[in-house]
Amino acid sequence: MNGQILASPRLIVPSSADNSSVSNIPSSLTLPSSAAPTPVPTPAPTPEPTTPEPEVPCNHEFDGRKQITGTTMHGPVCVLCGYINEEQAESCTADHYTADDSSHKEICGACGGVIKEESHLYTYTTETAEDGVRIHKGTCSVCGHTMDGACVFDPDGICEICGQPCTHEYTVGQSLDESYHQLVCKFCGHTEKEEHQIGESADSQKYCTACGYSLNE
Ligand SMILES: [Zn+2]
Ligand SMILES: [Zn+2]
Ligand SMILES: [Zn+2]
Ligand SMILES: [Zn+2]
Ligand SMILES: [Zn+2]
Ligand SMILES: [Zn+2]
Repeated sequence: MNGQILASPRLIVPSSADNSSVSNIPSSLTLPSSAAPTPVPTPAPTPEPTTPEPEVPCNHEFDGRKQITGTTMHGPVCVLCGYINEEQAESCTADHYTADDSSHKEICGACGGVIKEESHLYTYTTETAEDGVRIHKGTCSVCGHTMDGACVFDPDGICEICGQPCTHEYTVGQSLDESYHQLVCKFCGHTEKEEHQIGESADSQKYCTACGYSLNE
């Protein structure tokens, strides 16, 4: 059989290999079972096969608590079979929180089960990073979990996550008409109108010193 594997590796198709191995297993299993019944005649109504595994009652050894599925109660749990004695059930008591980025879970100190899961309740502070991007830092007032990220401003300049307004910082955009040019916030894209700031060049040409708009006809 080594020769087959070494000689034709490309022919070893998984499905065919599985089929051969599968067909081998039942045939090898049927051999001893068919060999065994030969001495036994026809009907053998023995009571044993009808109850293959008579249930042995567990001598429960209770150690620790386990949460009863679907509840916020726990009871003594058998370390041998997992049975929970619900007659001695008690309410879970909050001990600590576990948290990930999306939620926190209140955990029972006795059984480790989840009592409740909630979204974080963040309170935010905002700051401007070195590259000028506005960022918010949130701390959950319940579990202390922290997060941070760049503010995501809506058209009014309010962050959709932390609710804080943008501290606009404008750059001069394009001229709108002969009187105004546009100011654009570099953080949120909010725009404002501002009057041209008229200056005069050396050759007496009037222009806006901010946006470069020429005021000469
Ligand atoms: Zn048990
Ligand atoms: Zn519990
Ligand atoms: Zn939280
Ligand atoms: Zn924000
Ligand atoms: Zn802004
Ligand atoms: Zn201008």
